Amino acid sequence: MKKFIVLLLTLLLSALPALGEAEQTQVPVASGAVAGEAPAWDDTIQQAAGDPIPGGEQDPDDPDATLPPVPSVVMELVESQKPLTGVKIGIDPGHQAKGNNQKETVAPNSKKTKPKVSSGTAGVKTRIPEYKTTLEISLKLRDALVERGAEVYMTRETHDVNISNQERAKMMNALGVDLVLRIHCDGADNRSKHGIAVYCSKSNAIAAESYRACEAILPAVCEATGAKNNGIVSNDNYTGQNWSTVPCLMVECGFASNPEEDVLLNTEDYQWKLAEGLTQGIVDYIAARDGRSNGE
Ligand SMILES: [Zn+2]
Repeated sequence: MKKFIVLLLTLLLSALPALGEAEQTQVPVASGAVAGEAPAWDDTIQQAAGDPIPGGEQDPDDPDATLPPVPSVVMELVESQKPLTGVKIGIDPGHQAKGNNQKETVAPNSKKTKPKVSSGTAGVKTRIPEYKTTLEISLKLRDALVERGAEVYMTRETHDVNISNQERAKMMNALGVDLVLRIHCDGADNRSKHGIAVYCSKSNAIAAESYRACEAILPAVCEATGAKNNGIVSNDNYTGQNWSTVPCLMVECGFASNPEEDVLLNTEDYQWKLAEGLTQGIVDYIAARDGRSNGE
């Protein structure tokens, strides 16, 4: 402050001779000198008052505000450390708004046929059709997988499509995904039946790898949801699995025929539990397949 007063006096004194003329010429000598030279004492005053350091990058009151941006090379490293980076996952939300009863062969080397897409079940209590529930679960699963770094492909993201089960399998084969999850809801005459089961093919080329995926995914999704574990079923009854040339499994997420489970299956909270549990199972499967970390 002393320095300031001294300098101010110096300035005033130096301006004095001009003051007499100032009345005539109106030349603002003093202010011109200050603005033009940005003298050193200007800095001193501002520092003493706790103002930002002129020309500095930091604000001492809010250090976070001026942190430099994270270099892109670091961001790339963070991305590459995600458990599903470089992994392609296919999701097939079961059914569609309108079933298609035209027939297609159930397996590449079979003459047996089944409807292209059945209309699916519906909640015994909510009356919500299966195709809606499966898409809601699938979209959450997609988001959870993307969050872990996966590249996700969906057979459908709307209800108004007409894609047969064989076509859905061929879509995923062409994309060369690492794994396909077919998302469905179960139905049974016995209304007390509840819980989750997973299905895979028994005798095609990807049967063994699909079974390994089932072994990782089923316990993870049962743990996340608290649902009853109804086991792994391998058979050759399903067109979508039989035509798959990439590891593929069907998840029966719960029984739409059970009133309590029907309600659960159609709540946001339970759908997220399913999505997170399935995602953890996929992380576990890929970790075991590739010797990666699954975050444990
Ligand atoms: Zn279904």
